[in-house]
Amino acid sequence: MALHPRIILLGLPGSGKGTQGMLISHAFGVPVFSSGEYFRSLRREGKLPSEIAAKINAGGLVSDEDVNKVVVESFLSTRQAQVGFVLDGYPRTVAQAAFLDEYLTKQNLHLDATILVDLPVETAIRRISGRRVCPVDGSVYNVYYSKPAKEGTCDQCGASLIQREDDREESVRIRISTYDMITKALTTYYEEQNKLATVAGDGNPEDVFGRIREVLGDPA
Ligand SMILES: [Zn+2]
Repeated sequence: MALHPRIILLGLPGSGKGTQGMLISHAFGVPVFSSGEYFRSLRREGKLPSEIAAKINAGGLVSDEDVNKVVVESFLSTRQAQVGFVLDGYPRTVAQAAFLDEYLTKQNLHLDATILVDLPVETAIRRISGRRVCPVDGSVYNVYYSKPAKEGTCDQCGASLIQREDDREESVRIRISTYDMITKALTTYYEEQNKLATVAGDGNPEDVFGRIREVLGDPA
């Protein structure tokens, strides 16, 4: 793998791609740009560009052009991105992916790998909808994968565990099916360019990272 690899991570919510992004970042010395997190923080801090904020407030969708512009200005064109990168959550549409290709080509750069952390939809739903958290100390459990010793009770402090609103199965199903469509369109796009590597997303994060290491090879 190149010294400064440029990598895109694809995968459903629950696939653990956020964790994999951090592991790749540490192993290869490249920054991770998580676009979802970035846009949420801009919104929280009231720092969204005014024309985008106006669109959202009017109930409109942020266009591909808007997203491209923000990602270029806030990350791709910065010094930080010159040592390579891991992109998580961008591109989100085929139009954004085509824009990114064009942007990199103009600078004689290219993507080194697009990695799909592949997880069956039903597994992704169980990973998220099974989550229970302790409202007191933030401990996280999963009713399918890492149960507390006593059902519904935090092992650390004995408080009653809760399920976050966003983690309820009905809302998770809607969210995941949307992401599934998005991810499939992007995987087809990169597959057609022979740029897609698929790794199984089951098992613990170390197992998954081992598979990614096989794809990427050692830092050169
Ligand atoms: Zn607790």
